[in-house]
Amino acid sequence: MKCPFCNFDQDKVVDSRESKEGESIRRRRECLRCEKRFTTYERIDEIPYMVVKKDGRREKFERQKVLSGLLRACEKRPVPIGQLEQIVNEAESFVIDSAERERRTAELGELIMNRLRNLDKVAYVRFASVYLDFKDVHEFMSELQDLLRSKDASAARAALAAAQKSAAVKTKKPAKSGH
Ligand SMILES: [Zn+2]
Repeated sequence: MKCPFCNFDQDKVVDSRESKEGESIRRRRECLRCEKRFTTYERIDEIPYMVVKKDGRREKFERQKVLSGLLRACEKRPVPIGQLEQIVNEAESFVIDSAERERRTAELGELIMNRLRNLDKVAYVRFASVYLDFKDVHEFMSELQDLLRSKDASAARAALAAAQKSAAVKTKKPAKSGH
């Protein structure tokens, strides 16, 4: 915590007490350089972190949602849950690190896809089929071609079918009007 008098960034806590309602903690600190004292308050971070959807709608970032999406993509795949937890942690840090307290779903999806791609190609393709807008369809298809040639061919075919179904649903939506 920077000293408000001299900007030095090291201090010691000389007194610490909780507010009556238990909602905050007040700390008396002493600067290790100029020895002046100042007060800080610690509160629970109540403002949520948000994800911004393509149409501008915002919803709360929830770890559980990210995990659910990952579990769906990794169903019956040899991916340890610990690895998924790590991806969830990274996704959360990514949102929390944002100065605006929010990230676009596309950015978040990309981060998750990049991690999944290294873990399990089938899970990656399943996840991508839900998140991608099919503008990245070339890359997506080349991943699929590789898969279809591999020993995971049957899983790849299932992922492809799911992707095509998802694409069909997406293209059925009415075209955007105006700009
Ligand atoms: Zn100071």
